[in-house]
Amino acid sequence: MVQTWDQEFDTPLYKGKVSVKTGLFINNEWVESSGNTRIDAIDPSTGEVITTIADATASDVDTAVQAAKKAFYTTWGTKIAASERGRLLNKLADLVERDADQLAAIESRDAGKFFPHARHMDVVNVVTTMRYYAGWADKGTGETIETNETKFAYTRHEPIGVVAAIVPWNFPLMIAGWKIGPALATGNSLIIKPSEVTSLSMLYFADLVKEAGFPPGAFNVITGNGRTAGQALSEHEDIRKLSFTGSTPTGRRVLETSAKTNLKRVTLELGGKTATVVFDDADLEQAVKWSALGIFFHSGQMCTAGSRIFVHSKIYDEFVKGLTAAAQAAKGGNGFDPSCTSGPVVSEAQFERVLGYINAGKAAGATVVTGGERIGDKGYYIQPTIFANANPDSKIVREEIFGPVAVIAKFETDEEALQLANDTTFGLSTNVFTTNLNRAINFANKAESGSVYVNVASFPDVQHTFGGFKQSGFGKDLGKDALEAYTQVKAVHINIGAKA
Ligand code: NAD
Repeated sequence: MVQTWDQEFDTPLYKGKVSVKTGLFINNEWVESSGNTRIDAIDPSTGEVITTIADATASDVDTAVQAAKKAFYTTWGTKIAASERGRLLNKLADLVERDADQLAAIESRDAGKFFPHARHMDVVNVVTTMRYYAGWADKGTGETIETNETKFAYTRHEPIGVVAAIVPWNFPLMIAGWKIGPALATGNSLIIKPSEVTSLSMLYFADLVKEAGFPPGAFNVITGNGRTAGQALSEHEDIRKLSFTGSTPTGRRVLETSAKTNLKRVTLELGGKTATVVFDDADLEQAVKWSALGIFFHSGQMCTAGSRIFVHSKIYDEFVKGLTAAAQAAKGGNGFDPSCTSGPVVSEAQFERVLGYINAGKAAGATVVTGGERIGDKGYYIQPTIFANANPDSKIVREEIFGPVAVIAKFETDEEALQLANDTTFGLSTNVFTTNLNRAINFANKAESGSVYVNVASFPDVQHTFGGFKQSGFGKDLGKDALEAYTQVKAVHINIGAKA
């Protein structure tokens, strides 16, 4: 009998019940893990255990892979009309929309998100993503290629087979959606592994997949620890593609495992150290507001967090004043408190990690402009923090912190701004604030990152490709480009007259 988490919410922002099955979702059925361990799901606003989730073993992973494989060859993949895959994804989008409040409440409790953000950003993004890829499902095309009069040749974009997706805890449902949409639209069977820190929303979502009418095995959820369940997915010989979003060290490991096993295709969406560059001709008020959102939204737990801020010396003091005021205006609180603007970080481990970076910054002699401490003595709240005068080689400048911590520095020329922005091993996104169109375009063309945002912070759109340069990974999520990540191209050559 699979355990269920039943929760009654009676908060100013959401009143209602949710019920989440906390087993493994394989073949449209709920099963318990074959091992005997469970993992605590913790409310980061209090540190208290909410419920427990299944900790899948390698044998459970294999069961899911066999279910996915069977579906691929019998009821899913190319056995079903492409337009039917689109219809199912649209139906799923409708169900997510119907249960948006419940999903947002789960996300808020489990991941510490401010409820309105979870409701109007994360869940809405999932709906939009499902509808976007539903539209693509029946638009796959190949090419006919002219060679000579004795040959007819064409290409086909085929699904890859059994695909695994491993996702992180910062946007548990939303980033999973970026993989679920294109993987299912193109006919792959999918096994998704949410982070062990935030699995509950994906478990609720699984029941919606079943209700939408997807055939058993087309979509499966495995919960469990990275080093066991995640590792088993990356080792499995029947998984042909693995789409990973997470930290750079884990991504490296996934890639190594693929190389040592079946050379499954791997796409990696990894860490970042986004630069925000503010030129002296920028709309200062807007630049301050967007920069504050860019680093402090969701307590800085974004791969695109604008954690390095470079400001032209002419406007530096005024900018720092504005950003400091924005940081100090943040009010830490749980996600269902309408007056809160800043939630906790996701876990005790992340809390210790971020405070460790703050202490390393202080020890290395950087100036704390504001923040630098925990908030309260319960839950994992950290003050929005700004450092100045940091050594460019120090950890807080070079490494991804994944918390509400920015380092700020001055520049004088466009060349220096570009050099500072590109001086990182990461390359996920760059933000630039200027009212000069030429400067914006020149800067965008030379920025070494997969996305550049002009006069706005790094917030991706479903329609636009998203992914990293350099050690932020390779392969794309979102937009039309993601379809390529889930298909393989075959060339078919037909002899229409050549004699041997
Ligand atoms: P993480 O690398 O610790 O974990 C990510 C996922 O990998 C989890 O599901 C985890 O269980 C799994 N995992 C851990 N060890 C594994 C192993 N040996 N084999 C297979 N899977 C394993 O990352 P995190 O702490 O959950 O998330 C934060 C990181 O994610 C940050 O570095 C952030 O920048 C990155 N991120 C990147 C993007 C992007 O699109 N580029 C988006 C969001 C987050």
